[in-house]
Amino acid sequence: MINEQRLVDLFLSYVKISSPTKQEGRFAAHLCKALEEMGLEVSIDDAGEKVGSDTGNVIARLKGNMPGETILFSSHMDTVSPSIDVKPVIRDGVIYSDGTTVLGGDDKAGIAAIMEAVKTIIDNNLPHADIEIVFSIFEEGGLHGAKNLDISMLKAKQVFVLDSSGEPGQIIVKGPAQDKLEFSIHGKPAHAGVVPEEGISAIMVASHAISHMNLLRIDSETTANIGRIEGGSVTNIVPAETTVIAEARSLNNDKLKIQSDHMVACFSDAANKFGATVESKVTRMYSAFSIDENSDIVIKAKTACETIGLTASTIATGGGSDTNIYNARGMMAINLGIGEKKAHTLEEHLHIKDLIATSKLVLELVKLSVTK
Ligand SMILES: [Zn+2]
Repeated sequence: MINEQRLVDLFLSYVKISSPTKQEGRFAAHLCKALEEMGLEVSIDDAGEKVGSDTGNVIARLKGNMPGETILFSSHMDTVSPSIDVKPVIRDGVIYSDGTTVLGGDDKAGIAAIMEAVKTIIDNNLPHADIEIVFSIFEEGGLHGAKNLDISMLKAKQVFVLDSSGEPGQIIVKGPAQDKLEFSIHGKPAHAGVVPEEGISAIMVASHAISHMNLLRIDSETTANIGRIEGGSVTNIVPAETTVIAEARSLNNDKLKIQSDHMVACFSDAANKFGATVESKVTRMYSAFSIDENSDIVIKAKTACETIGLTASTIATGGGSDTNIYNARGMMAINLGIGEKKAHTLEEHLHIKDLIATSKLVLELVKLSVTK
């Protein structure tokens, strides 16, 4: 029932509208107009002002023509760089960029799938309960749109996020918590050729700390990574300042605390050893979530997948998404695989069959939310 060609055309038109993080405005306006033309109630919340984006989150509602559970679909509008002037290319049923940008199917594949499903519902006057849609801003780099989403505008308790790189049929029921760790090391400058013994090298402190640290894959639930080091200037000065930015994640909040504490301890031990000082800052970016396999939302997702011939499976992810925020804010959310391949790279691509499957999945979930 999904109009496959219209869906592909819709997706291609979306990726051509540039919407890098914090500059989602033009794309948001395009979506608002399309939603209004289909007869949905559309508004934009005030999240944009709070996080420095040129638009807020798009929130839309289609009133049900049948009783049932309000269902919310959510995808994000922003794309990672480089994503200006995307030129999509189709080869053998797969959509790529021209290799100079990402494709932006993360997360425009989700948006196109939702838009086509809603259009199909309206055009065919299919039975549906209230449908809510959120197209969020500033997901990449902090989930800031979802964190500042005006949830008072929403009725739904169940949220289907369409933003996972898994195959359609994969249902993400667990996601990790993430900490951001920032370390500023203060050593002492000195002339490196004349009186190096009077200096304290902040770079040496950092390297000592990092070499004693457990990093990358810690265990099946926990990961950690040093993402950036900055410090020093010229070779004849012992560097006095170095900053290190790192992250740690775990599906288990307790394990995350242990890992973050360990990283902080490595820096303080190294600073003590060298006589430097270190300022450590740990920020919890988002909390872990874990949805019961037997909950109504998971059963609904599995049923919808199987009805359209997908193999349903529930898995944990190592990534963060708006799903973490919906769950933290008291709604029940799962993330659905939409088949986005190699997201965040120039090789990003999307199989048209996966785009179609995702749109069918949305349609099926809508049918399941009607009270029988
Ligand atoms: Zn995404």
